[in-house]
Amino acid sequence: MSTELSRLLTDLGEKSSYDAASQCCRCGYCEQACPTYVITGNEARSARGRNQMVRLLIEKRLADPASARVGLDTCLLCGACTAACYARVPTADIVLEGRRMLAEKSHWLARILCRLLSEHRGLLAFGLKAANLAKRLGLTACIRPFLRLIGLPGLALAEEHVREAPLTFLYEILRRRPVAADPQWLYFAPCGPNFLYPRVGQATVAVLEALRGNGNFLDNGCCGLLAYNYGDVEDARRAARRNIVLFEAAGGRSPVVGDCSSCTAFLKSYPQLFLGEPDWRGRAERFAAVVLDAPELLRDAALPPLAGLAPATYHDSCRACHGQGLKDAGHAAMRRLAGPSYRELQESDVCCGGAGAYAFRNPGLSDELIRRKVGRIAATGARLVAASGTSCLIQLAQGLKKYYPECEVVHLSELAARAIAQGAQDGTQAGA
Ligand code: SF4
Ligand code: SF4
Repeated sequence: MSTELSRLLTDLGEKSSYDAASQCCRCGYCEQACPTYVITGNEARSARGRNQMVRLLIEKRLADPASARVGLDTCLLCGACTAACYARVPTADIVLEGRRMLAEKSHWLARILCRLLSEHRGLLAFGLKAANLAKRLGLTACIRPFLRLIGLPGLALAEEHVREAPLTFLYEILRRRPVAADPQWLYFAPCGPNFLYPRVGQATVAVLEALRGNGNFLDNGCCGLLAYNYGDVEDARRAARRNIVLFEAAGGRSPVVGDCSSCTAFLKSYPQLFLGEPDWRGRAERFAAVVLDAPELLRDAALPPLAGLAPATYHDSCRACHGQGLKDAGHAAMRRLAGPSYRELQESDVCCGGAGAYAFRNPGLSDELIRRKVGRIAATGARLVAASGTSCLIQLAQGLKKYYPECEVVHLSELAARAIAQGAQDGTQAGA
């Protein structure tokens, strides 16, 4: 079974990975948009350099293929280059193809996690609750040196990054909701809100109820992004098929709303997983067409402004602004929610360095990015920053704690839910 996709859906149509990489004419127009190039000034850390590496890898013209590894591994997959590129070269997908070509096999930890998230959620929940309890009791700090010793420094760092450790997961809470007979929406619980930030998912569901009436929880598994980025493409396909079947069983019509921009961007890209399977491709296209990210849901909603809010700003998740073209959606919602407290953030669409597991795999570069991001936030004087991606929430919480502890981070849905609750008390109605 091929571990690569081999064919990609680009803005210029379906192409082989080789043709997609060859589409890069090396003009360099995207260089200043690429955060890793801006920080390092190294051509091998730019989109142009990475596309070239993958092209040479496919042509088998690299004398030492492993020499491409660092260049490809340090890509944030943020998509800023594609947004800046006149030919819309999909560098992030090309980089992933290159990584898959270099990997003898996907990381064992990623494979286990993907299977647990998609197929054995009860087992995963049991393990996570035990770990969360240990974290609350302060016991997990003792295992960090052990994790480093056995070659899992990323996991040790992840344990440090995760500050909130819920004992009840979102899917357990949402399963208690009554089932609506004629749902106007379906809520897709991304793994972040599901296992780390249940309050985010609860806020999104409260907003959906206020804006769109009755709806249901899809009771979904992982979207498959973890497998797509770090594991097996076939695992990602399996996860996608399962979620499409759930959607079809729920009527196959209602909008599917999620609140992690990386996850919703991946749901929208499901058709690319099935280019050689016409039936599944069609089903994936019907599914992807109704997926909505939280900022998209809130962009035009009539939200009452939050009274007495501290100065607040908005950070764009890469997978919302570059991955889904939602550059203005979050800002528009935030402007209405914060009213006169809103502060525009410079470089709001530059990656914060969270980028999935990037902070754990490339801690040095990730720290440079978050320092720069926090500097921009501090320059606005904000005491609150909203975002829409799980990695951003984790990374910003960690960075703010370290470099600007006067400020806190929340998900955009949380602010919207707060505004709706406040409006209900004052008699102001929210609307879609
Ligand atoms: S990715 Fe696009 S903008 Fe960047 S060098 Fe290649 S063709 Fe030019
Ligand atoms: S995806 Fe981001 S980090 Fe990777 S080459 Fe493009 S702009 Fe640079």
